[in-house]
Amino acid sequence: APRIGVLALQGDFREHLAVLRGLGAEAVPVRRPAELETVDGLVIPGGESTVIDKLSRSFGMADPLRRSIADGMPVYGTCAGLIMLADTILDGIEGQESFGGLNVAVRRNAFGTQVDSFEADLDVPALGEQPVHAVFIRAPVVENVGDGASALAALDDGRVVAVEQGNLMGTSFHPEVTGETRFHQYFLDKVRAARS
Ligand code: GLN
Repeated sequence: APRIGVLALQGDFREHLAVLRGLGAEAVPVRRPAELETVDGLVIPGGESTVIDKLSRSFGMADPLRRSIADGMPVYGTCAGLIMLADTILDGIEGQESFGGLNVAVRRNAFGTQVDSFEADLDVPALGEQPVHAVFIRAPVVENVGDGASALAALDDGRVVAVEQGNLMGTSFHPEVTGETRFHQYFLDKVRAARS
């Protein structure tokens, strides 16, 4: 079984560990560079990107993670995790950094305060015909999909909410809270392909 790390500095990492284990992966929390060395792929959970940014720097994880991404390690980010994978954050707080790797620009909290959270059924052609029931919680939106990156899903109004680029993928929403397992399966397929 592939060994998958879930970055466990802050956010809903337990939910990701449970989904990955349910799919037969060996899933472990990752907080230290030495732990990162032992995994075939990494999930960055939802939570608060400004906090994940600060903690990853104080745990000495930010640069090792950037190196692993550059070396081709598969990484899947949900919500705050997508923000951490974006090359450009359009409205980060002062000094906020991402790990980068996805050639996209994201806007945080893009749906305003009235619609903090909402749900939508999305067509995701890469995952088959059955729509994805997506839960958005203070979610970011992808405002620019640059060269090399491609959209996996958009809302009815065209706003992009799931992207991939090579071994990296990100969703604005949280499949790990709805019993949806196809994004994690899609990610595990990337990990298997990268290992062989
Ligand atoms: N708004 C959060 C951020 O900027 C993301 C919210 C989430 O991960 N559910 O990081």
